[in-house]
Amino acid sequence: MIPVADAMAIIRSVVRPLGAEPVPTQDADGRILAEDIASTEDVPPFRASTVDGFAVVAGDGTAKRPVIQEITAGVADRLPVRPGTAARIMTGAPLPDGADAVVMIEDTQTEGGQVTLQRAVRPGDNIRPIGIDVANGDTVLRAGIELGASEVGLLMTLGRATVSCYRRPVVAVLSTGDELVEPWEPVPLGSIRDSNRYALMTAIREAGGIPLSLGRARDDRELQTRLVREGTEQADVLVTSGGVSVGDRDYIKPALEELGKVHFGRINFRPGMPLTFAEVGTTLAFGLPGNPVSSLVTFEVFVRPTLRRMQGHPNPDRPRVEVELEHDFPAPGSRVEYHRAVVRWSEGKLLARSTGLQMSSRLLSMTGHNALVILDPGTETLRAGSSRPAILTGPLLTN
Ligand code: AMP
Ligand code: MG
Repeated sequence: MIPVADAMAIIRSVVRPLGAEPVPTQDADGRILAEDIASTEDVPPFRASTVDGFAVVAGDGTAKRPVIQEITAGVADRLPVRPGTAARIMTGAPLPDGADAVVMIEDTQTEGGQVTLQRAVRPGDNIRPIGIDVANGDTVLRAGIELGASEVGLLMTLGRATVSCYRRPVVAVLSTGDELVEPWEPVPLGSIRDSNRYALMTAIREAGGIPLSLGRARDDRELQTRLVREGTEQADVLVTSGGVSVGDRDYIKPALEELGKVHFGRINFRPGMPLTFAEVGTTLAFGLPGNPVSSLVTFEVFVRPTLRRMQGHPNPDRPRVEVELEHDFPAPGSRVEYHRAVVRWSEGKLLARSTGLQMSSRLLSMTGHNALVILDPGTETLRAGSSRPAILTGPLLTN
C-alpha cells in the first residue's frame, strides 16, 4: 500500500502532453493553445471614432461649421475634413483625413446643416489610434493558455479561424462484472445496473477527454485481457471499473501485468484502496475499483489531473485550500480519507459540512459535493472548528 503522494508522483513521472492538432477557433473553448499567436496587423487598422458625433479640426475651436458628409461604420469613402468644416461620424467609423478629434453628439447643436460645439476638443479626443488595441507583431497569446470567450474573440479579431491546440486524450472505458446489466434492462436478483461506465464517461468529458465505451465484460480472464489489449491499442488512456481487488474473479490486475507494467496496485486511500496504475505500450491504464463512489473519487484525484496534463493544461490540479469543519467529522480509521463535503464561503472563512454517510456504494455522498476534505488516518473524532486541507471540486456556495 503506497501513500497518495507517491502514487501521484509515479503517475506524473510517466504522463506526457499529447501532440497538437488544428482546431476551428469557434470550437476551441476549453482547449489549450499549442502555438504562440502573434498579430500580423494593427487593431484597429485605421483611426476609429469611439463615439457618435462630429469629426472636426480641434484648432477650429467651438465655432459653427458646415457638416460636409456622414460617415457610418463600415464606410471607406470619405472626403477630407478641411479647417472650418465637420463630418458626422458614428462609433467605429474611420476618421476622414484632416480631422484630428471627434466631439460627442451630446456636446453639439445642429441647425441647417451647420454644427456648433458646446465645448472645445483637443487633438486625439474620442479617437482610437491605429494599433492601440493590438500592435502589428505583438505576441498576444502564448502556447499553454486555456482558450475561453475572450481568447476566441481575440483570435477571431486577428482573423485566426483555426488554431493549433493540444489533442484531447481518447479514453477507453470498460466495466467489469458478471452482475452488470445495462441501466434500461430488467435486473435479475443479484444483478445491478452498470452505472459506473456512464458516470466515468461523463467525468472524462468534463476533464476534456473523449470517452470511448468498450462496453461491459463478464468476469472472464481471457475476455478481459482481450478487451484491455484492444482498449490500450485504440486509446491514449484506459479506465476500467471493478475487478481490481482480491476477489477470486478479479482479473484486471493480472491482465495488466500480462500486457504491460503495473506501477502500483494498492494505495493508502479511502475510498478506493485497490486503485491500480499501469502502462501498456504508450497507453496509461487505470484500474478503478467497482464501488461507484470509489471509482469516481479515484478518477477525480488521480485520472482527471492526468487527462488535463496530457492536454498541456497550465493548471491541471484543483485548488487546494484549508477549510474549517462546521461540525464533528467521524474518525477516518486506518487510511487517509477523502471525505465528500459541501464548502461555503462565510464571513471570511471556508466552512465544510459532510455530505453524510461516506459508504463507497453511496453515490448520494457525492451529489452536490464541491470538496474532498483530506482526513489523516486516526481513531479520534475530528472536532468542529478544526482546520483541514481540502480539494475544491466545484464552485463554492456563497451562503
Ligand atoms: P468490484 O470492485 O468488482 O469488487 O466491485 C465492487 C462493488 O462495486 C460491487 O458491489 C459491484 O457490484 C459494484 N460495481 C462494480 N462495477 C460496477 C458498475 N459498473 N456500476 C455500478 N456498480 C458496480
Ligand atoms: Mg467485480
